[in-house]
Amino acid sequence: MNYDVIIVGGGPAGLTSAIYTSRAMQKTLVIEERAVGGQMVLTTEVENYPGFPDGIMGAELGSLMEKQARRFGAEIRYGSFKGIDTEKKVLKTSEEEISFKALILALGAEPAKLGLPKEEELTGRGISYCATCDGAFFREQKVAVIGGGNTALEEALFLTNFASKVYLIHRRDSFRGEKYLQEKVKKNPKIETVLSTIPKEIIGENDVNGLRVFGLKDNREYVLDVTGVFIFVGYKPKTEIIKGVVELNEQGYIKADRYLRTSVPFIFACGDCIDKPYKQIASAVGDGCVAGMSAVSYIEYECL
Ligand code: NAP
Repeated sequence: MNYDVIIVGGGPAGLTSAIYTSRAMQKTLVIEERAVGGQMVLTTEVENYPGFPDGIMGAELGSLMEKQARRFGAEIRYGSFKGIDTEKKVLKTSEEEISFKALILALGAEPAKLGLPKEEELTGRGISYCATCDGAFFREQKVAVIGGGNTALEEALFLTNFASKVYLIHRRDSFRGEKYLQEKVKKNPKIETVLSTIPKEIIGENDVNGLRVFGLKDNREYVLDVTGVFIFVGYKPKTEIIKGVVELNEQGYIKADRYLRTSVPFIFACGDCIDKPYKQIASAVGDGCVAGMSAVSYIEYECL
């Protein structure tokens, strides 16, 4: 099978690239492993994406972008990306081998783990990285949220729709997340902030029934009586599979120039998998546009 452009990843960056490449009459295929919309599907309300003054649910925004990409003829297919043969310009998925003229990597990122004992075995049994997916299982229960960035603040707020109490635990004495969200957290009576505190131990055998924490300022160790622990301590790029194909930085993010060209001339990259300071839906969409236009220029003129 032959395509002009293959885009790996169907999040906001990949879908925007698809809108641009398919509208430019390039035969485009988007390969997505899980859910079209990427991390947007897992998030709750998006309040800072322009054009939606009253906010929009992440999943709805994702399906609107998908509809727009399909309108111009982009095909979207589920499959696991298994690698690239750069000599033959062939992409391998779990099911097939597909050739391309230009490739766009919109691989995204996945939640970072805390690395606590039992974190992995109790995932899905009290440990979660997604409030939208799992929040409803904790109706009228006490939960802990770990992290101090925008994700932790937003998801702690969302969890108050279900939980009777949310402990928001952060390792420093001030949050990294936006002031606007900090104010919302402060005003929410169900959230108790637990600052300068680190999680030490997840308690429970088959389910979570407590979280041992350590206060860094008072050197006090104690157990919070929670049945759920939601971990939002940042993300790591999903770039393991392209290690050795394109150049990555020390943290594993793809190095790309302002045209979003990678170290391989016909491979472009965009979204949360690239080395850049701010990870926003709006910036992912901007990257997706640049990568899409660059891929089209590369195909049409063999240069940029
Ligand atoms: P983040 O901004 O990297 O924040 C991660 C948080 O986890 C930080 O507060 C960090 O503490 C803490 N942390 C990291 N490792 C830890 C550990 N081992 N133990 C305890 N705490 C740990 O990640 P994020 O909140 O997921 O956000 C990712 C990106 O998406 C950001 O660019 C963010 O702005 C963006 N985002 C934007 C929105 C929005 O605009 N509405 C919503 C969600 C996410 P320190 O502060 O001490 O480093």
